[in-house]
Amino acid sequence: MNELQKRLETYKRLGLKLTPQRLAILEYLENTREHPSAEDIYNALKDRFPSMSFATVYNTLEVLIEKGLVKELSIDSSKKRFDPFLHSHHHFICKQCGKIFDVERNFDILIPEELKEFEVSDFQVVFSGLCPTCKKK
Ligand code: ZN
Ligand code: MN
Repeated sequence: MNELQKRLETYKRLGLKLTPQRLAILEYLENTREHPSAEDIYNALKDRFPSMSFATVYNTLEVLIEKGLVKELSIDSSKKRFDPFLHSHHHFICKQCGKIFDVERNFDILIPEELKEFEVSDFQVVFSGLCPTCKKK
């Protein structure tokens, strides 16, 4: 079973209605590591699904987030970006082109003294700067 099939099983188990448009949105998310925005997804699929509205894309993403199948990234201050990869990982955002890259590395971070009384469940390291392509320009 490949990743997509596994996901489809999960969606069925959660009782998500899988319309062709929803499937296309899921497939698109599954096949990109660029952390697209809702607009990016809509623009990539609108030719294939002329009747699909931006609201459909947005609502599908909302459902996926609610079900915990997609993460919403707030790294990009101009728009929400989406990540179907749920394992703990970090990111680099290019300040020029806005691309978000995955950083797969474990950072050993000491929990700061101020948080001693808290239960920390997650943290994220965000690097920013210029990607190799933008650096060359
Ligand atoms: Zn760039
Ligand atoms: Mn990511």
